[in-house]
Amino acid sequence: MPHTTQLGTAVSRPGSIQYGQWDAFTHATGHIEFLPVIIAQGKEPGPCIWLTAAIHGVEHTGPWVLHALLTQDLVEKLHGTIIAIPSLCPVGLRVNEYVPYIVEKNPNRLWPEDKPKPAQPDPEKRPPFPLETAYQRLFERIKETANFLIDYHNASIGSIPFAFRDRVLYREDKNLEENKTEAQQLAGRLDKMLTAFGFTIVNENLVEKYIDEDLHRSTSGAVLMKGRIPAFTVELGGGQMPDRAIVTAAVAGTRNVLRWAGMLPGEMEPISGITIIDPGYPVRTSVRTRMPGPGVAIHLKEPGEMVAIDEPIAELQDIWGRPLPQSPLVSDREGFILSRSHGIFFDQGEAIYHMAIRDEEPLLGPYPRDFFKEN
Ligand SMILES: [Zn+2]
Repeated sequence: MPHTTQLGTAVSRPGSIQYGQWDAFTHATGHIEFLPVIIAQGKEPGPCIWLTAAIHGVEHTGPWVLHALLTQDLVEKLHGTIIAIPSLCPVGLRVNEYVPYIVEKNPNRLWPEDKPKPAQPDPEKRPPFPLETAYQRLFERIKETANFLIDYHNASIGSIPFAFRDRVLYREDKNLEENKTEAQQLAGRLDKMLTAFGFTIVNENLVEKYIDEDLHRSTSGAVLMKGRIPAFTVELGGGQMPDRAIVTAAVAGTRNVLRWAGMLPGEMEPISGITIIDPGYPVRTSVRTRMPGPGVAIHLKEPGEMVAIDEPIAELQDIWGRPLPQSPLVSDREGFILSRSHGIFFDQGEAIYHMAIRDEEPLLGPYPRDFFKEN
């Protein structure tokens, strides 16, 4: 018999799908901001996977994936438990914004981290947003229950779907050998989980930028880095007009992760209907090819196309349509296009592509030296 799992008002029942809500915080108006919770539990015991979506209010594909995945037919074969949260930030969906007014910053950078906090909070500084405090509480529930986590996102219009692989960081100031071995095992399990999902895999930013941009405080970043639980983020194309083919592929990919985890019987299903790229070398995310001056960029490459070094990737012109002296713009890296930046008018220094470029860096490494210093 599987364990009973409860999150808010949702209580698991073997062989069924249960619905409820988890109260996050109270608005000034007295309204409670709750997160919707779905718990699907098989009749047989097994691991527990968390599936979370829509922390960004303009990303509508993830909730659809969860609704399509969680069926009674799935539950009949399931071993273990799925805890699904179709929206990690319902207020974002209500106002249709990436950063809703309640947080003033990317909500996907508010999860807990291992960096030590000052003993006394500075009264001059704003205390954590209520949503941040809610995520700290929810993180504790994830740590107690989860064996795996997938967080569903959207990138930009026309982007190819892909899964992010975060580099696994470890402490080197104490128990170095032990930490390194643990990080290796965690990175190995994450790699297998990503392979089971079956989408294009793109490594996250290099360590310095990853920490500077608080990517270790994203939903999957925090679960992986602080929770030491295999977790990844998947980008499912544009979010305001979800693509049915990407939804279908993401549902199949998630079922494949369940099979890999021993939660579903049967063969892996093929992932079809979407672009999947394996260039034969690892790649990492890079928002790049910056405008040398203000003007119009006519993209010469489409999402999913390979790019060679020095290959022209955009023609540049002014508002009158006359070529700029720097045209055509060439790529300084090899890889492939994940998406074009929206529009054709760009200021100097703006990036015109999101690319996956060849990545020579290791997939695990130490935290930056000053990370654990008290501020
Ligand atoms: Zn997102």
